[in-house]
Amino acid sequence: MTAAPLHVLVIGAGFGGLTLAHGLCRAGVSVAVYEKHRTRTDGLYGYRVGIDPTGNRALKECLPPQLFDTFVATCARTPRYFNVLTEKKKRTAAIPLRGDSDEINSERSVSRQTLRQLLLTGLEDVVHFDKRFTHYEQQPDGTVTAYFADGTSATGDVLVAADGAHSAVRKQYLPQAVLRPAGIISIGAKIPMSPEALSLLSREAQQGLSLVFAPKGFMCIWHVMEFGWDARGGVKEGVAGNDAELIRAWPGLLFDNTRDYISFGLWASEDKFPADVLSLRGPDLIDLVLRLTPNWHPDFRRLFAMADPSTAFPLQIATSEAVPAWPTSTVTLLGDAIHTMTPGQGVGANTSLRDAMLLCRALSSVQAKGRDLLAAICEYEAEMIPYGFARVADSLVQNGTSGSDPLHRPVVGRAVLAANRAYFRAVDAIPPLRRKFLDDLYTYRGAELAAAE
Ligand SMILES: Cc1cc2nc3c(=O)[nH]c(=O)nc-3n(C[C@H](O)[C@H](O)[C@H](O)COP(=O)(O)OP(=O)(O)OC[C@H]3O[C@@H](n4cnc5c(N)ncnc54)[C@H](O)[C@@H]3O)c2cc1C
Repeated sequence: MTAAPLHVLVIGAGFGGLTLAHGLCRAGVSVAVYEKHRTRTDGLYGYRVGIDPTGNRALKECLPPQLFDTFVATCARTPRYFNVLTEKKKRTAAIPLRGDSDEINSERSVSRQTLRQLLLTGLEDVVHFDKRFTHYEQQPDGTVTAYFADGTSATGDVLVAADGAHSAVRKQYLPQAVLRPAGIISIGAKIPMSPEALSLLSREAQQGLSLVFAPKGFMCIWHVMEFGWDARGGVKEGVAGNDAELIRAWPGLLFDNTRDYISFGLWASEDKFPADVLSLRGPDLIDLVLRLTPNWHPDFRRLFAMADPSTAFPLQIATSEAVPAWPTSTVTLLGDAIHTMTPGQGVGANTSLRDAMLLCRALSSVQAKGRDLLAAICEYEAEMIPYGFARVADSLVQNGTSGSDPLHRPVVGRAVLAANRAYFRAVDAIPPLRRKFLDDLYTYRGAELAAAE
């Protein structure tokens, strides 16, 4: 049985919106994406995003097969170690991670800009740039009209809010939803890769991601990002046949300025930062990082000083509060637009991709199998809301990404820091504990779902 063709409007060309659009295109469902930025390269902080088995599964299901292969080929080298360090560069733990040979059941590192360019590939006729959504109207026949700041509008059967944490669609549709600061400021920047920069990190840190627990609730994460192409955009020597071909053939590289780098993010509770931190830019932010870390190891401070000031950005970390279920309609939401979370667990993007996959299945079944549209959206929301807000809650209690975490308190914070370090030292030293740590980590990040398939 087939129903009348659907037309889906997606607001926001982020990870979730673009993945949904790919999936719908593959299923033969008409879709249009509206993005406020003017061009495909505008407006993105270039941080590293870890894609886990949950994210891999969603991308595999929604993207055309060759684009999924290109995604794998354009990821940075997979981290081989999860390191925990002190601010004096002493090892607390260096836990070897599993490899990336399984296309789904692997952890991957990708540059936000690269994944965005990848997801835009093949959607040239679907994505409309310079379309800032302002508001919508639901028509008596169930269709929805979206209005844009340039005075234009578009009408479809479904309107999907994929417009991120400050979603204008959510503000109109669910005005009761709460987005609030998590009480944390983070400063991120990139150091262009060089032999000197790399030599300032230990061997395990060079091959992994490294979390620094420091006094006063300061935390820092280091990522070493090495790609399959060189500084001029040519495929690197040693990149094997199929990957080399995929990178060469991928038009997205033309728009992607990502080159090898080491990135850091330094965060702590808001009270540790000057009141004007969010208005600081470039060298002022790097100076601030150096002022905040006077007793850190000279190698870390040297790396901070080597950062390219144009890549530095401050972030006020936000979180959302669970929204009680609402009556289903032809407006729905995915990703940060409904469940913004702190980066504490590194699952915001992965959850957005999972939403996109599930919503794609629901909407495709309406067109292909004649399912009732509202019933399909209701089923998607009934699944998405519980896991989405569970991820919000988990993220808030991880890695000091909530300002109310005891780690940030003056006296008790020292005891929490000592306990964290003792825990990771034990994980490092005791094989059964290490195995449990890894099993829990991979299970949380979706490995069990992939394995069960
Ligand atoms: C420092 C940091 C590190 C992170 N690391 C990880 C990680 O390792 N792993 C992970 O899973 N997640 C990570 N995250 C979270 C992740 O980046 C987000 O959860 C993810 O980008 C959300 O995707 P989205 O598609 O829902 O929204 P977004 O990526 O925010 O996309 C929303 C899109 O909507 C557009 N838009 C907004 N308003 C309008 C409008 N009015 N009209 C039209 N378009 C509009 C925006 O321009 C944007 O393109 C991290 C976040 C931060 C801050």
